[in-house]
This record gives sequence, structure tokens and C-alpha cells, in this order.
Amino acid sequence: MQNFNILIIGAGIAGLTFANLLKREGVNFRIIEKETSDTFNNSGYMLGLLPLGGRVLTELDLEKEYFDQSIEMTDYEIHKENGKLNKAYSLNFINKNYGSYRGIERKKLVEILIDGIEKAQILFGITANEIRQIDNLANVTFSDGKKESFDLVIVADGIHSETRKLLWNEKEYSYRDTNWGGWVGWLENQEMATYKEYWGASSFMGLYPVKNKVGVFLGGPNESVKKQGLYNFAKKIQNEILPEFDLIHKALDVLASTENPFYWEFHDCRTNDWNKGNVILLGDAACGFLPTAGVGASMAMDSASALVDELSRTDKEHLEYGIKMYLKRQKKRVETAQEDSRKLGDLMFVKSNLIAGIRDYAVRFYSIKQLAKNISKTMEG
Ligand SMILES: Cc1cc2nc3c(=O)[nH]c(=O)nc-3n(C[C@H](O)[C@H](O)[C@H](O)COP(=O)(O)OP(=O)(O)OC[C@H]3O[C@@H](n4cnc5c(N)ncnc54)[C@H](O)[C@@H]3O)c2cc1C
Repeated sequence: MQNFNILIIGAGIAGLTFANLLKREGVNFRIIEKETSDTFNNSGYMLGLLPLGGRVLTELDLEKEYFDQSIEMTDYEIHKENGKLNKAYSLNFINKNYGSYRGIERKKLVEILIDGIEKAQILFGITANEIRQIDNLANVTFSDGKKESFDLVIVADGIHSETRKLLWNEKEYSYRDTNWGGWVGWLENQEMATYKEYWGASSFMGLYPVKNKVGVFLGGPNESVKKQGLYNFAKKIQNEILPEFDLIHKALDVLASTENPFYWEFHDCRTNDWNKGNVILLGDAACGFLPTAGVGASMAMDSASALVDELSRTDKEHLEYGIKMYLKRQKKRVETAQEDSRKLGDLMFVKSNLIAGIRDYAVRFYSIKQLAKNISKTMEG
């Protein structure tokens, strides 16, 4: 891989992790990023990062920076929509057996990954307009009209990948829409180590801790919550919540008064083939996740690490074999985790009161052993 010339499209979690790993291997790369340097990394949301991702930061010697900017999550609680606790799980089996499960702002994680490479290697405000594969090269025409040939192109431009459309037709990938979504905001100056969810009928809330603050999510079926608007929907939900649950009232007050909050639509995406010759999809562009398993970012980092590992044993002549080995190692693992997040979505995104009641009852019998088994399946692949 040492003499490869590599283009990475997208300076998100997958692209930047891949770039850091290449730098460590001493390989030439360039990154193009659609956002300009003024608009890049401005919007922030919270990430729960399983040790799948944390281990890659350890591999990159960035563990100290990561730990400094994040907090360990020790517990997971599922509440009813009135705020009462329905079921609590300790997450210490993850922290003890696999590595620290941490909450971090996406913005901070991107900063850590950017610091690991030279920013000059990123061309901001540039996209790819055309990719033509001739012989063993990918010839790329950029949005500024310049052209260049690469041995390998990594497409890491996220779940709504525009670059994928250059080589993949619409029948080759599909989105799965839950028709749910919601708003994301922040509760500042709040320390906690428990991530809390509130599963209702036609509503879903989450409090996700990061360092010194808590990410707040409130959502439901797109059509109905968008019609009500954030303020009215938040007030309606607050009426259901018992007055003694201060924290959630505070969080909803803050979210309701957030200007231009980010609206997150809950769909995922699957692409049949992750590569076309020497153009490879990575991260959400290959397989995007629903939020339910909180695994998209760490899986993207895990895939970046597996890909560099396989490529590091490959020369130009045997690139096809190297890519094949990567796909064999990673694709099923990622798609299995995606299946699990879909099943969890069916449980969480419920409209009727009756079904939500049955679900809430059943959740009480979902043991820590079963949770641990599912997480171990994701961690161990
Ligand atoms: C609100 C929210 C909460 C989430 N919470 C969690 C969580 O708790 N845990 C978890 O693991 N995951 C979570 N995720 C998912 C996680 O953010 C993604 O799985 C992860 O960011 C995927 O990384 P990526 O690099 O593939 O894509 P992204 O991180 O989305 O990066 C894509 C990059 O490509 C750039 N780009 C876009 N189009 C182009 C183009 N045409 N040309 C060049 N560049 C382009 C974008 O500007 C961006 O910089 C969450 C997502 C959201 C929205």
C-alpha cells in the first residue's frame, strides 16, 4: 500500500479515521470535503462511542485526547413516557470487558481526528463531479474542474452520499425509513454518566451525556411532530411527565427554546456492493444506521481500521484481492449490527398506546444478560 495514491471523499468520522490510519502507515492521501472551512464542523450532536471506535483511537495513540474530551457511560435507563423508570442496566460489562463506552460531542471527535493529520491535506468546498475507471486507475474530475488519477478512492461522504450516485445506480442501494424523527439540542453544564431514554406511544426522548453537558433528543412520527412544531410538541410531552422529574422538564424547556435545532430523520441505508473496482464506500455511505443501537460512528471507525489493515498487506497488482478480503471480514459484521438496530427500532418507534403498554411490560423482562449478549455480538462480530 505504501506507494498508493489515495483520495478520500468526506472529512467525517470514517474519512478522518481512515486518513489518520494511512498517515501512520506513511501512505499518500488527499481529502476533499464538501463544506467550506467556514461551515465545516459547525453543527454538533452527541455520539455514544462503543469501544469498537475507542479501540481505533487507542490504535492511533489518540486515547488521551479522546478521554479528555469525553465521559464514560456507566448506566442505561429506559423510562416510560411519564418519566418513571421502567428498566435500568449497568453498562459496566462493556467498560470492563471491551473498553470504555464513552459519550463525546461529534464536533470534539472531529477536532481530535483533524489534529491527528495535517489540515492542509483537506481541500474544503470541493466535491467529485465524475469518476472514470480506466485500467487500474480512478480518474476523478473535481468540482473546480481539476482532474487527477488515483489508485484508490474512498467514498466516505455519509448516509446521503452524493458521490455514490456517480457509480452506483438507484437499484443498488436502498433507504429504510421509519418515518420517525426529531429535534436535537443541548442541556449545558450538566454532569451525568447515565444515558436515559423515554419510550412513549408516538414519542421518543433521550438524554445522552457528553463531557459537561447532555444531548437532548425529542421526536416521534415525522408527519405529526413536524405539524405540531417543536415548541407545541415539547409542551404536550411535558404535560405527560410527572412534576418530580426535574431533569427531563429542564431538558425539554431548553430544547423547546433552541433556535433552529437540528432535525434528524430516522432512516438507514444499505448498499448491495461496497466497491466498484478501486472505488470503495466507507462508513454511512456503505451502510448507514438508525440511531437505535448508537453504533454508526464506532462501526465506521472499525471499518476504516479493518480496511487499512487489509490494504497494508496489499500491493497494486493484488488490490482486488485485498478489497475482497476486507469485504469478507467486515460487510456481514456491519450488516448484522444494522439488522439489530432495525429490530430495536421496531420496539422503540411505536404509535399505539396498547402496543406501547405491552412493549413497556415486556422490556421489564429483557435481562442484562440478553443486552450483554447483543452487545457482545456487535463487539466480537
Ligand atoms: C443526531 C445524531 C446522533 C447520532 N448518534 C450516534 C451515536 O450516539 N453513536 C454512534 O455511533 N453514531 C451516532 N450517529 C451516527 C454517526 O454520526 C454516523 O454513523 C457517523 O458520523 C458516520 O460517519 P461517516 O464518516 O460515514 O459520515 P459523516 O460523519 O456524516 O461524514 C460525512 C462527511 O462527508 C461530507 N460530505 C457530504 N457530501 C459530500 C460530498 N459530495 N463530497 C465531499 N464531502 C461530502 C460531509 O460534510 C461530512 O463531513 C448519530 C447521528 C446523528 C445525526
